[in-house]
Amino acid sequence: MSLTQRTIVFLCLLLLGLGGSALGWFRSGDQALQSLRYEVTSRPASGDVVFVEIDAPSLAQVGVWPWPRSVYARLLDTLMEMGASDVAFDIDFSAASTPAEDASFAAALDRAGGYARLAAFAQTTSDGHLMLNTPLPEFAQFADPVLVNVDGDGTDLVESFPVGIDGVAIAPIAMALAPGVAPRARSIGIDYGVDVTTIERISAHDVLSGAVDPNLLRDRQVVVGASAVELRDTFRVPRFGTLPGALIQIAAAETLKGDRQIIDLSIAPSSLVGALVLAGLLLAGRRLSLGRLAALGLGISLSLELAALLALQLDAVVFDTMTAHVLTFAGLAVIMLDERAIRWRQTRRQQQRLAYLARHDAASGALSRQGMIDILEQRAASAPPLTLVAAQFPRLSQVIATLGHEVAELVARAIAARLQSLGDVLPTRLGSDVFAFVLPDGDDAGAIARVVTALEEPYRVEGHTIVLYLVLGLTTSATAADDPAELMRQAEVALRVASQQRLSLARYDAAMSGRIKSRRLLDLALHHALERDELQLVFQPQVCLKTGVLLGTEALVRWHSAEHGDVSPAQFIPLAEESSLIAEIGTWVMREACRQAVDWPWQGRLSVNVSAMQFRHGDLLADVTQALADSGFPAHRLDIEITESLCTQDDVQTLQTLRALRALGCSIAMDDFGTGYSSLSYLAQLPIDKIKIDQSFIRGLPALDNQVLVETAVSLGQRLGKVVIAEGVETDAQRAYLSSIGCDLGQGYYFGRPGPAAELPFDARFAA
Ligand code: C2E
Ligand code: MG
Ligand code: MG
Repeated sequence: MSLTQRTIVFLCLLLLGLGGSALGWFRSGDQALQSLRYEVTSRPASGDVVFVEIDAPSLAQVGVWPWPRSVYARLLDTLMEMGASDVAFDIDFSAASTPAEDASFAAALDRAGGYARLAAFAQTTSDGHLMLNTPLPEFAQFADPVLVNVDGDGTDLVESFPVGIDGVAIAPIAMALAPGVAPRARSIGIDYGVDVTTIERISAHDVLSGAVDPNLLRDRQVVVGASAVELRDTFRVPRFGTLPGALIQIAAAETLKGDRQIIDLSIAPSSLVGALVLAGLLLAGRRLSLGRLAALGLGISLSLELAALLALQLDAVVFDTMTAHVLTFAGLAVIMLDERAIRWRQTRRQQQRLAYLARHDAASGALSRQGMIDILEQRAASAPPLTLVAAQFPRLSQVIATLGHEVAELVARAIAARLQSLGDVLPTRLGSDVFAFVLPDGDDAGAIARVVTALEEPYRVEGHTIVLYLVLGLTTSATAADDPAELMRQAEVALRVASQQRLSLARYDAAMSGRIKSRRLLDLALHHALERDELQLVFQPQVCLKTGVLLGTEALVRWHSAEHGDVSPAQFIPLAEESSLIAEIGTWVMREACRQAVDWPWQGRLSVNVSAMQFRHGDLLADVTQALADSGFPAHRLDIEITESLCTQDDVQTLQTLRALRALGCSIAMDDFGTGYSSLSYLAQLPIDKIKIDQSFIRGLPALDNQVLVETAVSLGQRLGKVVIAEGVETDAQRAYLSSIGCDLGQGYYFGRPGPAAELPFDARFAA
């Protein structure tokens, strides 16, 4: 809750507390507490006043009710004889009985000489008139009336008596018994701290039968009244439960005599304290721990109770405390509940955050793999077939390396935002540079192109302009019931195939999974190929087309895998290129080729293939130098075969390595010429000694189209001063044709298949 909300709640509490208190909700609690306070401040009665009670034995003794007036006459006479200082009757004498009986009582009153008093009782009739019951005139002439009303404040407990009644000049009985004491208020609160059980009670029966010690009555004020239950002159009071009316009058007289008139402040102090406590809690409540708050509440309530006790003890002031207690604890409860609610909300927020993180990539705001799967699962029932795309941004890893993680994450965020702007595509991040999304409008070329265009727009992040390209793997759910996790897997398989085959896009087909799997197994086996000695070299002749003499051999690697049998280098070399394995294999090939070739009884050339990866990740120059040094094979007889793709990259380091190799004495041959995209200018500038026309051109010979190409390549190479080799020569016609156009060398099955060194035809003379 905000402070305003709390304030409103607390104001409502305050209103509710005060209203409830006005409606008497807390009355019984207040009464119980007040009784307790009277108990604690208990004191004995003065002993000045004696209660002569008309109890059950008295009723039994006389036998009739109302008593004949002569019985009262006898009672009064006896009391006066025993030395009572005055006698007040809390008995109704407003109606006449028989003249003889009335005369007998009037005579006794006369004998009492003015020391007797008779009850007067005021009551309001149902139509609002005051009705006053006063003693019969024949009695009143000898005895003053005293007011015996007790239900002064109208509450269910008798806590006070009225000082007087408007228009009635009759003093209350208690004031008559304590002459000279001035009332503190219009209604006098009775101090039930007076222990009424210490008030002397004497049965009227005992008085009438003379069984009373006169000392008990001498100089005592006497109140005669009914205590027998059947006379129903009893009232509920604090502390003592139910008391006869006359005894309450005596307690009131004791109150006056002890100068203990109770002033009742009612709920005023309590309301004030309650309001202050609420205000305090409102301002400081949040800063306190729950334990402190509870202790504080308890402290406030106990202090208030102590104050109430002291007020009663010291100044005869009483007030209700329940309202304050209720307000205090209600305020505390609100704060505690609020705290709990706050904590609950915090926990819920944390849980939501965790749930969010489980379904999102925090850095980019895109969905996580699980997040997308969940959404697709939810939609599965209703969704039409969809195309799921896994998209890799291969350069993003370079961005991490060059510009740092933060910039890369900003780019990732921008990618997610661009995907988001494409519509309901569910942008998802699968890895640091891999995203996924659903194609919004079908997967035709146009739709894909739109997405690619949007994503390949340069990214401007923190002053950097970052150009990324995309590789896509697509899969389409055949039916809406397709498992989203499986769809995701298919898209990733397609993506992997695309990046392995250096395509910008691949669509998933069932065969891919199998290929991916066997590739993985192959990769696993390849890692052990070297240590298991599963690699071998074979050599293929290179023949001079003019003379038919064997001028060179090309070393080609072979892998006989224990698990997979013979595996073609066209298959495992690209695999090795994906890991550092190519460097190890390349090193081995170079050494093994030189080691074997140095022993041959022949002075021709040795060609060794090297991968572009060896330039980038291995130390080719060191490998070659070492192989030559270890074997003693002369550098000037070694050809290094590089692929065309290597030459298309304007890489200073590659150039340096090529120059250094040449400086060692080696020659450089460009393999598979014509399949790549090397520009003619490269051919002129690069340090290349030979070109090897790719076998695909030779295979087509002697078709006319191919003739044009091959002739052009041959003359181009030769005019640039390179030696030209034709690969894949299989037939004599091909050989003859190549010879006729002046191609320098030929290599192919026609001259010999790749085989062990022992089978090399060093001395053979081929057709020329
Ligand atoms: P490449 O360097 O162009 O090698 C020539 C390939 O053509 C060899 O295949 C050879 O067996 C094949 N060939 C030769 N004459 C004929 C012919 O008349 N007809 C047909 N159809 N094919 C012929 P291979 O041995 O399977 O090697 C394939 C490729 O693997 C090689 O192409 C080369 O790029 C790579 N490779 C082979 N050994 C190594 C190696 O030790 N290191 C590296 N980096 N790559 C190698
Ligand atoms: Mg080659
Ligand atoms: Mg080749």
